[in-house]
Amino acid sequence: MSFQPHIQRVGVLGGGQLGKMLSQAGSRWDLNLWLLDKDKDFPAGTVNRQFVEGDFKDFQDVYVFGKQVDVLTIEIEAVNTEAMLRLEEEGIEIHPAPKPLQIIKDKGLQKQFYREHQLPTSDFQLYESKEAVIQALKDVELVFPFVQKSRTEGYDGRGVAIIKGEEDLPKLLDSACVVEKLVDIDKELAVIVAANKKGDIQSFPVVEMAFHPTANLVEFLLCPARVDAEVAQRATELAERVIKAYDIKGLLAVELFLTKSGDILVNEVAPRPHNSGHHTIESCATSQFEQHLRAILNLPLGDTHVLQPAAMVNVLGDPGYEGPVRYEGLDEIFQIPQVFPHLYGKQFTRPYRKMGHITVLGDTIEEAIQKARTVQQLIKVKA
Ligand code: ADP
Repeated sequence: MSFQPHIQRVGVLGGGQLGKMLSQAGSRWDLNLWLLDKDKDFPAGTVNRQFVEGDFKDFQDVYVFGKQVDVLTIEIEAVNTEAMLRLEEEGIEIHPAPKPLQIIKDKGLQKQFYREHQLPTSDFQLYESKEAVIQALKDVELVFPFVQKSRTEGYDGRGVAIIKGEEDLPKLLDSACVVEKLVDIDKELAVIVAANKKGDIQSFPVVEMAFHPTANLVEFLLCPARVDAEVAQRATELAERVIKAYDIKGLLAVELFLTKSGDILVNEVAPRPHNSGHHTIESCATSQFEQHLRAILNLPLGDTHVLQPAAMVNVLGDPGYEGPVRYEGLDEIFQIPQVFPHLYGKQFTRPYRKMGHITVLGDTIEEAIQKARTVQQLIKVKA
């Protein structure tokens, strides 16, 4: 049967900014998404009337919601996968499938998955608690420096502790964790790859992430990445191996480390649209959001080539402000050509909260970076 977007029921677990941008992409085709999250005032609720209030971590809420849709997807990993497994058994189509999602939700299982599938990743060890990490140090089974990550519930750098020596021990997280070798990182890269049921696979051009010095969040995101064509090719091939290994349909954002010695390692993945793909809305022939919808609906995947180089700036809550949000600098930003602000519609700001992003296009990546620096100095998120 030919594709009839207006009668398709696509359900999305989560109603944050990714759900908002997915809704906006779907709405161009009159494809109406249904979203499940706690509050209609969340970002996706501001653009989509089909918003069901409920908890995506709750079995019953996810099960009842999932029963009403043709295809179920996610915009956040912290969802109830037991309910998804039941729905899958009962014939609901789900992308990403709950089994790979269960692996991805747990950083320990993720690392074991890469080891088992011979996908390059940093060396690691799993521990049950902070005490177990300290014991391993005493036994000289573990040595400084290392990176400790909480196995579950970590995001945006929370749940990650970089331990270079004794002085960092107070930073140790008290939870079941992965302890990884500290990688000598040259660049952090990401490749967003999509697959559909027909077996088509299509990657977006490699992006380069530049990190904020204190917030441990991406400060700038550059596309195309400033790496050799050979490195870009290896990064893309690795990302495609990873999506095949998981057998995921939909998007998979693969975060990679390019090491100082030139190796490329898988850091972690997200089976959904990702912060590192926001620039695609304006800078690529197909946006990551449209690509995710194409992939989960088994449609032909879209052309991913770069129309123009882009630098993306996350709009984060300024430290020191908490409360109803007030933006400063937008008037000045609007005077700069080819600058595209996206505000997610969150009513309250807090330090480093992701409130929006701004994509800046240039004729060259250098020009985009230069304009992005100006944008970053202009935009202020206060209360
Ligand atoms: P999150 O899920 O919170 O984004 P990540 O695993 O991406 O956590 O880690 C956050 C950041 O910490 C990375 O982007 C990188 O800068 C740093 N980091 C993570 N793992 C390592 C490692 N093994 N070696 C060096 N730095 C790391």
